[in-house]
Amino acid sequence: MIKSSPPAPQAYVVLDRKIADALEKLSQVLRTLAWKQATEQSINPIQLQILIFLLRHPGQQVSISLLADEFNISKASISDTIKLLESKRFIKKEYALASTRKFTIQLSIEGKELASAGVVFDAAIVSSIGEIDTANKENLFCSLSQLLLHLYRIDVISQQRMCQTCKYYEVKNTLHYCNLLQQYMGTTALQLDCPDHLTERSIPHE
Ligand code: SF4
Repeated sequence: MIKSSPPAPQAYVVLDRKIADALEKLSQVLRTLAWKQATEQSINPIQLQILIFLLRHPGQQVSISLLADEFNISKASISDTIKLLESKRFIKKEYALASTRKFTIQLSIEGKELASAGVVFDAAIVSSIGEIDTANKENLFCSLSQLLLHLYRIDVISQQRMCQTCKYYEVKNTLHYCNLLQQYMGTTALQLDCPDHLTERSIPHE
C-alpha cells in the first residue's frame, strides 16, 4: 500500500491559491447567473439582489444603510438604485413619522412577484451542491463559515448576521449554544443570516 507523505508547507500555499481561484470562478458563475436572470426581468443584477434581499427579510426594518452594509456598496449607489426601483413601483418607502425623512423599504406587490420569480437565479449552484455527499457538504459549509467569519474579523466584509458574531452565542461545554433559543446547535445549524442576530463586535472565541 502506498502511503503519501505529508504535503510540504509550500503545497498548502498552492492549495490556498487554488481554493481562492475556485471561489473566484464560483463568484463569476453567480454573477453570470444573476445577470442572465436580471436581464430576462428587464432590471440589473443589483436591483434583483435588493429585491431578493427584501423578499427574504420580510419583517426587517430595511434602510439604505443596511443595504449598503449588506452589499458593500456606497450609500449613494444604493440610494440611486432605490430611487429607480421606486420609480418602477417595485418597492415602497414607509416613513416612521410624517415629519421625518427616515424611511424603511418594502416590496410592493409587483416587486414581490418579480423577486419571487428571480430568487431561483442560483438554482444550478444549489442543485450542484445537492450532488455532493453529506460529509463533504458539511465540511464545505464549515470551511466557508470560518472563511466568512475571518474576513469579518479582519474588516474585509461588514456586519454578518452569523451566530459567532451574535451576543446570544456562546461556546458551552465545547459546543455551540444560542442563549435566545436556549439550545445547543450542531455546526451545520449555525446561522449565516439570522433575523434575531444581535451585534457583538468583540468576539472572545473561535
Ligand atoms: S440568535 Fe440567531 S444568530 Fe444569534 S446565536 Fe441564536 S441562532 Fe445564532
